[in-house]
Amino acid sequence: MKKFMFVLMFASVFCLALGLTACNINGGKGDNGGNGGEGGGSTDVTDPSGSQTPDVGKEDGGETSDHVHAYTVDNVCSVCGDKWEYTEGLVFTLDTQTDTYVVSGIGDVLDDDISIPCGYQGRYVTAIGESAFENCEWLKTVMIPNTITSIGDWAFDNCDGLTNITIPDSVTSIRYGAFADCIRLTSIIIPNSVVTIGRSAFSGCSGLESVYYKGTPDEWDEIEIDSDNIELASAKRYYYSAEENYDGLHWHYDPETGEPVVWTKEND
Ligand SMILES: [Zn+2]
Repeated sequence: MKKFMFVLMFASVFCLALGLTACNINGGKGDNGGNGGEGGGSTDVTDPSGSQTPDVGKEDGGETSDHVHAYTVDNVCSVCGDKWEYTEGLVFTLDTQTDTYVVSGIGDVLDDDISIPCGYQGRYVTAIGESAFENCEWLKTVMIPNTITSIGDWAFDNCDGLTNITIPDSVTSIRYGAFADCIRLTSIIIPNSVVTIGRSAFSGCSGLESVYYKGTPDEWDEIEIDSDNIELASAKRYYYSAEENYDGLHWHYDPETGEPVVWTKEND
């Protein structure tokens, strides 16, 4: 697990260093996404080269350390065959613009811990829809694959049970009220792929203490953060550093637990 996280971070940083956007689905879908006229042609998007498949699976507990899982719409890694475990019974809506699915509701699922699939019925799942999990107070953890690019308005509004959330590196927008009133949310990992954070996205998150940001202060300043996000602004914000950095402003993944921790001399 720890090796896996390191490799993943390394891979992410490497992609960034090269200025590549093609290492997530945004880049990958550029080529697949334009084929709206091909109808069912998108049902098989497995690319033997692997270059067009999204690098989902960051939160997966897979022990592999030689690659980032490249899950297909069948939720199986095209490199090693690892299966992305996901929750059955969620509700999906087809987005005809992108020919991908939006997870739009929880259905009858009462699980505490849910995992959103990478693909559904032969298409990628690329967004969490408006109010998809609103008022799901029983939810404790949510695994979001990095096929997801958008977290919709009020998607997790009033999910009282959530204590921490990892936003995958594919997400560019966290929309209006997405995590509003998640009163037990204490920490969140936000990737530097995020471009916009909507109005009230974290309003009412009175317990929010730590924001683990995967970019630099300059990158954070470039995020378009709409009004009424006082809790987000006032939470302690840390910036990712793979290298030791004891200025109290930087974090890394704990090699034992895989959880984010601030670089401190006592811990390391
Ligand atoms: Zn794999």
